[in-house]
Amino acid sequence: MKVWIDQDLCTGDGLCAEIAPDVFFGQDDGLFYVQESAANFGTETLFDGTSNPAGSDGMARIPDNGMDRVIEAAEECPGECIFIEVE
Ligand code: SF4
Repeated sequence: MKVWIDQDLCTGDGLCAEIAPDVFFGQDDGLFYVQESAANFGTETLFDGTSNPAGSDGMARIPDNGMDRVIEAAEECPGECIFIEVE
């Protein structure tokens, strides 16, 4: 499964990063993005938390042990802008 955020709808409240900080992070633009933590994916990370593109171009893999937290973040997201895709 993969996850991405539609930044056009993101309120910037940071709730997702509180729930799953290894998957979601805020950038200087005040919006939140997805990342693949090296702690979860080693050197094979697609996005390192600094250069991740917005929207579905920034789709990141979800770590096996992070599925529940990512689903919770999507359910709690006030912007309803966290999207999970099944591969
Ligand atoms: S919970 Fe949703 S609206 Fe809030 S910062 Fe995260 S993606 Fe944006």
